Amino acid sequence: QAKADAQHSLQLFSAEMNQRALDRVALERSLRDALARKALTLQYQPQVLSTGAHVLHSVEALARWHHPERGPVPPSEFIPLAEEVGLIHELTLWLLDTACAQLASWRRAGCAVPSVSVNLSGRSFHRPELADQISAALAQHGLQPGDVVLEITESVMMDARPVTLANIELLHQRGFRLSLDDFGTGYSSLSYLHRLPISELKLDKAFVQDLEGSDAARALTVSVLSIAHSLGMVVVAEGVETRQQHEWLRTHGCPVMQGYLFARPLDPAALPGWLARPGASG
Ligand code: C2E
Ligand code: MG
Ligand code: MG
Ligand code: MG
Repeated sequence: QAKADAQHSLQLFSAEMNQRALDRVALERSLRDALARKALTLQYQPQVLSTGAHVLHSVEALARWHHPERGPVPPSEFIPLAEEVGLIHELTLWLLDTACAQLASWRRAGCAVPSVSVNLSGRSFHRPELADQISAALAQHGLQPGDVVLEITESVMMDARPVTLANIELLHQRGFRLSLDDFGTGYSSLSYLHRLPISELKLDKAFVQDLEGSDAARALTVSVLSIAHSLGMVVVAEGVETRQQHEWLRTHGCPVMQGYLFARPLDPAALPGWLARPGASG
């Protein structure tokens, strides 16, 4: 009986594995197809100055994929997939081009958006042509390096490959601002902060959500704000959802915030309306 059971669960197990592999192959095929047809979209989430709740620091471009049968697929699913199957760089260049076109279009319409923040994958930093491709995308839309913020993760900072370091230096020399995303969730070595040209830290939403209940989260946040301040970096707090979080962060000197309290990620057409309604929240 035991042997039969084992046999049976092994069959179930491999059937499930097989199904998962098939799902993944199908998802990969649809992602390739969506990218080829430019069927992905972007939403933009305001980042606001903590002093006046409706003054923009930047807007973060966030990728969206509406699968024809499955409906919306979250970026936490399709971004890692795009990285694994080698599609991420193409996706990133498309996203950058789209975000630049959008920024230029808002400005032509008289909507003063200071900059757009885009998420870059660590994989793109292995390409020697990265800085030239980014510069070319901006030039095509008549934008300057100061018009975009490049969000990178701690894994990029920890990557000691010469090509990665060269890209970081080159982008900095050309006047791009680099922002360290999800700060506090990865390796969080403080030593690289002053060695690399980072102009912004994004305090991960896990910290913000723990502020109310955890002495440790408050102590860490105070230290991060102090270190960033002394290194001349801007701090953006992510995932601000409550007035209490906003108040605490503001009184402790956090200059910029992003979160549902101010606005959800918005369709591009909704941004001018949001900006024109001071005091309104998302
Ligand atoms: P991220 O870059 O840290 O983006 C912030 C995420 O937090 C977004 O999730 C946003 O919708 C969510 N968020 C914003 N405010 C709040 C809040 O008040 N509360 C909570 N609970 N969440 C909030 P989203 O859009 O699902 O994106 C998830 C992650 O996927 C992003 O995290 C980023 O790492 C990645 N991602 C999204 N778009 C792109 C892209 O175009 N390229 C790359 N490489 N990664 C992307
Ligand atoms: Mg980000
Ligand atoms: Mg983030
Ligand atoms: Mg995050």
